Amino acid sequence: MTLLDQWDLKKEDFEYSFELKFKEGSDIANDFPPCVKEILSKIQEGQNIIHIERLFLVFFLHALNYPNDKIVDLFANLPDFDRKMTEYQVEFAKKKGYVPHSCATLKSFNLCKAKKYDDELCMGGFFSRKLEETKKIAHPLFYVQFKQFTRSKSQNQNEPKTEKTDS
Ligand code: SF4
Repeated sequence: MTLLDQWDLKKEDFEYSFELKFKEGSDIANDFPPCVKEILSKIQEGQNIIHIERLFLVFFLHALNYPNDKIVDLFANLPDFDRKMTEYQVEFAKKKGYVPHSCATLKSFNLCKAKKYDDELCMGGFFSRKLEETKKIAHPLFYVQFKQFTRSKSQNQNEPKTEKTDS
C-alpha cells in the first residue's frame, strides 16, 4: 500500500478529489502549505532545521511521490548536509511508508505557520459541500489537494468554450 493509499483511508469525508502526485516538469511547490514553505525557505537560506522538521518534510514529499534524489538535493543547503546519510534516511523513510504529521501535531510542535503567512485557507478553512459548513484544514496534504482542485476548476472555467460548427 502506498502512502497516498493510506492517506485516502485516513481522510474522513474528502470531497475534493484530485490527483495528488509529483509530476516531472510541473511545479506543485506553489501549492505547498505555509508549514512546508517555511521549512523549505529555512533550508534555502542555509539555516539549520530541527529533527521533526526534517522528518515532516521527507514524509510530506514522499506522500507526493517526490523522487528520492530530488528530496536529497533539497537538503543539500543545510550546514550539516551529508549526502550518503541523507540518501539512507530518505530511502529508509520511503520503505517504511510513514504518513506526514497532521496539522494538530504540527501545531503542538509550533510548526504551523498559518498566522505568519496569513494564509487564508489555513486560517479560514474551506466550505464543505457535504456538511454545508466551514471546516478547518486538518492535514497539510489536504491543503495541497484542495489548492490543486480549486486551481484545476478555475482553469476549466477560464478555458474558452469551443463552438461546434456545421461541416
Ligand atoms: S494549518 Fe495545517 S497545513 Fe496550514 S500551516 Fe498549519 S499545519 Fe500547515
